[in-house]
Amino acid sequence: MAEVDVEDLRLIDHHCHGVVKADLDLAGFENLIAESSDPPPRGTSRFDSPLGLAVRRWCAPVLGLEPFASPQDYVARRADLGADGVARSFLKEAGMGALLLDTGYRSEELHDLKAMGELAAVPVHEIVRLEAVAEAVAVSGVDASTYPSAFREALDDASREAVGLKTIVAYRGGFSLDPETPSETEVVRAAGPFLEAAASGRPRVADPVLLRFGIWSGVRLARERGFPIQFHSGWGDADLDLHLSNPTLLTGLIRKFDRLGVNVVFLHCYPFHRDAAYLSAVYGNVYFDVGSALHYHGPSSSRLLAEAMEVAPFSKLLFSSDAFGLAEQYHLGAMLFRRALQEVLDGWIEADHCDVATAGRIAEGIARVNALRIYPLT
Ligand SMILES: [Zn+2]
Repeated sequence: MAEVDVEDLRLIDHHCHGVVKADLDLAGFENLIAESSDPPPRGTSRFDSPLGLAVRRWCAPVLGLEPFASPQDYVARRADLGADGVARSFLKEAGMGALLLDTGYRSEELHDLKAMGELAAVPVHEIVRLEAVAEAVAVSGVDASTYPSAFREALDDASREAVGLKTIVAYRGGFSLDPETPSETEVVRAAGPFLEAAASGRPRVADPVLLRFGIWSGVRLARERGFPIQFHSGWGDADLDLHLSNPTLLTGLIRKFDRLGVNVVFLHCYPFHRDAAYLSAVYGNVYFDVGSALHYHGPSSSRLLAEAMEVAPFSKLLFSSDAFGLAEQYHLGAMLFRRALQEVLDGWIEADHCDVATAGRIAEGIARVNALRIYPLT
C-alpha cells in the first residue's frame, strides 16, 4: 500500500525553548520530564511515566545505548557525552527546518537564540513574551504615570527582530477576562501596586488590566508587523488553573482579533485540543498545536493527533515540540509527530478517505507550510 512520506519533512517548530547549558544529574534530568513540582510516590521515579518511557525507548539508542536503558545508565551516558554534544545529536535527529524560540522563561539557565542556532544548525527566530517585557519594565525604575509609554517602547525594542508574540495570561488568572482595551487611566492606576510589589521582590504581572494592556499593545504590533499572538492554553505546570485555560473562554477576544485581522495561535491545548480544533474551524484567525502533549503522551501521541485532526481545517494545525530544557524533547516531539501523522494519514488512505497526494499536502501543511503562512519567516 502507498504511504505518506513523513521522514523528509523539514519541520518548522513554531514553539520551543532553549536547552539547559549545564550537565544534568539524575534529579536535574527528572525535574525536566514532568510538569509537577511534587516528588513522585515513594519507590517510583519520574521515568515511570509515558514521557520517561519514551526517553528510555527512543532517546537511549541515539546516545548509543540499548533501548530501555535504566534511568541511571541513561543520565550517566548523557553526562559522559556532555550537554552540548547531546543537544547536537538530538537536534540533528529531529530534522528541523527552523525554530521559533520563546525566550521569556528561565532564560538564564537556557541557551539563547544564537547558541540554539549553532546547536541546531538551522535558522532560529524569536517569539517575545509579553509578560516578560512587563516584568522587565517594572524593575527598570519607571513610575506608574510613565508605565504605559515605557511598556510600549520596551515591547517595540524587544520585538524588533521577533516573528511573533506570546502571552501566558492563562497562568495569570486565565481566559475569562474582559476583552476590551483598558484605558490609559486604568493602566496607570493598576501599574502603581505592580511597581511597588516589583520594588520589594520578584515582579509578577497578574493584574487583569495590565495583562489586557499587554495583549492590546501586542495587537497594535501584530497588525503593523503581520505576525500572530500565541496564547498558552491547557497543559502546563501546577501554577495553572487548568479549567480557566480552555481556549473557548477567549471567544470574545478572538472575535475582536478576527475583525482586526490578527491571528491567534493556541499552544499545547490538551485536554482542550478538540475545543481549539473547533475554534480553528469556525474562526478564520485561529490556529493551534498539540506541542508538548506529543512527548508527554508518548505511546498515546497518535491518538492525540488524530483527535486534533478530527474537525480542524488542514491549514489550521501547526507543529511544535514545546521542547524545554532537554534536547530529548526536540527529538521526541519530532519523532512522535512524524509517527502520529503517518499513522493517522495512512489510516485515512487505507480506509479510502484520502489519496496519497492529498495526504502528502496535508502533512507538508501541518509540518511547515501553515507556519510559513502566518509567521513572517524569511
Ligand atoms: Zn513552551
